[in-house]
Amino acid sequence: MKEHTIQMVDLVGQYEEIKNEIKAGFDEVLGAASFINGPAVKTFQSSLEQYLGVKHVIPCANGTDALQIAMMGLGLKPGDEVITADFTFASTVEVIALLGLTPVLVDVKWDDFTIDVAAVEKAITPKTKAIVPVHLFGQCADMKAIMELAERYNLKVIEDNAQAIGARYLDPSGARPMAGTIGHVGATSFFPSKNLGCYGDGGALFTNDDDLAHTLRGIVNHGMYERYHHDVVGVNSRLDSLQAVVLNAKLSRLDTYGAKRQAAARAYNSALAGLSGVETPVTVSACEGICDTCNCHVFHQYTLKIDGNRRDGLAQHLAQKGIPFGIYYPIPLHRQKAYRDERYNEEDFRVTNALSDAVISLPMHTELTPEQIDYITSEIRSFLSQ
Ligand SMILES: *Cc1c(COP(=O)(O)O)cnc(C)c1O
Repeated sequence: MKEHTIQMVDLVGQYEEIKNEIKAGFDEVLGAASFINGPAVKTFQSSLEQYLGVKHVIPCANGTDALQIAMMGLGLKPGDEVITADFTFASTVEVIALLGLTPVLVDVKWDDFTIDVAAVEKAITPKTKAIVPVHLFGQCADMKAIMELAERYNLKVIEDNAQAIGARYLDPSGARPMAGTIGHVGATSFFPSKNLGCYGDGGALFTNDDDLAHTLRGIVNHGMYERYHHDVVGVNSRLDSLQAVVLNAKLSRLDTYGAKRQAAARAYNSALAGLSGVETPVTVSACEGICDTCNCHVFHQYTLKIDGNRRDGLAQHLAQKGIPFGIYYPIPLHRQKAYRDERYNEEDFRVTNALSDAVISLPMHTELTPEQIDYITSEIRSFLSQ
C-alpha cells in the first residue's frame, strides 16, 4: 500500500478531473479582466440558489466573514448574548466577540457532536438574541427543536453551515430542506478543504428573507445600497471571479462528491464494525435505514471516538504508519484563553470535554480508494486489538 500516499484531503487528485474546465474558466476571467463580480460570480450565485432551494445567496470573502455579516445584518448589538456550541472551530465564537456581543458557549451531544438543545434553553436569559447551531462534520443540528425554541423566545437563528453544504435535514414532518436554509440566515465557507471548496478563500450567506438579503448585500459592499451612499457600517467582503470559476465546476459535481464521501464512510463503518474500543459516526436517527440513498450526512469529517484514553496512542500509531489524521477539536472553546469566562462551570461541558479527548478524524475526501481504506482500518484494528 505504498503506490499512493494517503492524504487527509486530496485536492490534487480531484483537480485532475476538472482541470480543463477550470483552466478555460480562468482564461475567460483573465481575458475579460472581470476579477470582481464578474459573470462567473453571478452564475455561481444563481446556481447555488437553485441547488439549495433558497431565495437569496450572498457571496462573500470567507466563512468567518459570512458569520460576522449575518450577525451585523440581524442588527445584533453590543451586550446581546449569542448562544453557540463549545465544540466547534473558533470562527463562530470569534465573530461574536469581535462585534462586542457576548458569546455563551454550551455543551453538545455525544452522538452527533451538535449543540445540545436542552443546554441552549438553560442558557437563555433576557439578553439572549440569537442561537448559532453548527452543523458539525457534515450533518445538521436538531433544527426543528432549535427553531421551536427560537420562536418561543423570539431569537434569531444563524446556521453555521461551513461543514455541511449539500446535506439535507430530515425534518420529523418529512420535509427535507437543505442544511443552511432553515434558520433566519445560513453562513458557509468555501475554504479549499470544505466539501465545496475553492482555491483560496470564499464564503456565502443564504436566506429566504428579502429584506435581510437586501441588508446583507449592502453590508458586504461597504454598507452601500446606492453608489457612494453609505447607509450602514459595512465591510469589504467579496468572492472573486477566479474562485467562482472553481466553485461553478465543483457545484455541478457536489452531489457526486457527497456520494463518494458517503461510500468511503460506509466502507470505514463496515471495516470497523464489531471492533471494541471504537465508536463509528452516528447518523441522525430519523434517517435510520435510508442513509444509503439520502444525503443527511455529507461527511465533511469521518470522526471516530476512541475509548479508554487510547486516542493519543492510536494517533501515534497512525503517524508511524504514514496515515494522516486530524484531532477536531483538541481543546473546548470555553477553555481557550481568548474565550474563558468565569460564569462557565466545567460540569456544564462534560460532553465537549470528553469528546476533546476521544475524537480522531480519518482521511476523508473524494479520491479515497478501497485499498487505502483497507490499509487504514487494518492498522486501527491491529492497534486497538493489542
Ligand atoms: C471552516 C469553518 C468556518 C470558517 O470558514 P473560513 O472560510 O475559514 O473563514 C466557520 N465555522 C466552521 C464550523 C468551519 O468549519
